[in-house]
Amino acid sequence: MAVEIDDELFGGNITVIDSDVDAVVVAPEPDPEGDFCQWFAFRSRDVDGDGATVRLDTSGTSWPEALDDYAVFASFDGRAWERIETDRDDEALVFEHPSGVELAEFALWEPYTPARRRRLAARMRRARGAQVVTLGRTVDGSDLDAVHFAGGERRVWIVARQHPGEVMAEWYADGLLERLADLRDPAVKALRALASVTVVSCANLDGSARGHHRVNALGVDMNRAWLDADESRCPEVVAMRAALEQSSVDLFVDVHGDERTARAFVARSEGNPSYDDRLAALEDRFVEALAEACDEFDRESGYPIDAPGEADLRTAANFVGERFDCPSLTLELPFNGAKSGWTSTVARSFGARSLAAVLAVLDE
Ligand SMILES: [Zn+2]
Repeated sequence: MAVEIDDELFGGNITVIDSDVDAVVVAPEPDPEGDFCQWFAFRSRDVDGDGATVRLDTSGTSWPEALDDYAVFASFDGRAWERIETDRDDEALVFEHPSGVELAEFALWEPYTPARRRRLAARMRRARGAQVVTLGRTVDGSDLDAVHFAGGERRVWIVARQHPGEVMAEWYADGLLERLADLRDPAVKALRALASVTVVSCANLDGSARGHHRVNALGVDMNRAWLDADESRCPEVVAMRAALEQSSVDLFVDVHGDERTARAFVARSEGNPSYDDRLAALEDRFVEALAEACDEFDRESGYPIDAPGEADLRTAANFVGERFDCPSLTLELPFNGAKSGWTSTVARSFGARSLAAVLAVLDE
C-alpha cells in the first residue's frame, strides 16, 4: 500500500474499503442512527514516497449528486487548505495524494479547528462590550458558548452550525464576529446602538468533534428538535431555547450549508401560523440587503415555500419566528462553488458583509 489512511484529525471520519498499489478506496461513515452520510475528513500518510490515487466511494452518501461539480479540500502542510483537482466517476471522487508530501489531510470542506475557536473566543473576551457566555453543556460535556455584544434595546440572535458537517456556517460566524467586535466600523456602531447581538458560532460541538454530518452525539438532528427538545437527548437546543426565553429576540438567523447549491439562499418562515405582512416586509428587507451586499447570495433559489400554517415548527427558524413573532430566517450557504472560488476565506467575508442585512431589518 502506498498510503496509510487514518481519521486522527479533528472531526475525522473515514473508513478504508480497499487498498492496493494503484489506488486506495475510502468512504465516509454514516452518522449514528444512519440517516445521513456526507462529511469526511482524514489523513493520508505516504509510506514509499510515490503518493497515491485516492478513490472516495460516494455510493453511500446522502447527496451523491451534490458531489458532481465539487472539488475536495486538502492540506499538505497541516495549516493551509485549498481545493484540489477532483475527478468524478459513477461511484467515486478521484484525487491525488501527491508524491513528495508525507502527510496530507483531506476533507469535504475546510475544517474549523478547536484551536481557532479558542483564539477567536479570546479575542472576543477582550473586545469592548463583548462577553463569552456559556449557555449550557453538550452531551459530551463541552461548554456551549455564545458571544454576546451589549447594545440597544432590540435583540438579534444568530445561530450557526447546528448541522456539524455544514462547517462553512462556522466560518461565516467567524467573519461576522470579527466585524461585530470592531466598534470603529460605522455599520457596527449603528447596529450595536440599536440592538444587542448574540452569536452561537458552533451549536453542534459534539457532532463536529465526532465527524458527524448532521446530528449530535446521540444521533439527534438538532434542527428537528426545537419543538420538543429533550434535556437528555439534545441539551444544546434546550440551552439555546432557555437563553432565548430569557432574552427574547427581535431577529433570528440560523446559518446552515446546503449540499446541492453553489449559491447562498434563505428560507423564510412563510408557513408559520402567525406569519403576517409585517414579518414578510421585515424579511424582505433582510433579503434585499443581503443580495446587495453579497454576490454569492441568490434571492431566486430556495426550498419550496410552505403553505400558510404548514411550517415545520421543529426547525429553529420556524420555532423561534412563531414563538417570538419576529423575522426569522434560515440562511443556507453553499458546499459547492469550487469554480467560483467559494472557500473559508470567502465564507468569512460573506459573514462580515451580511451585517448589512441585519442592520436593514433593525433600521426602521
Ligand atoms: Zn443544515
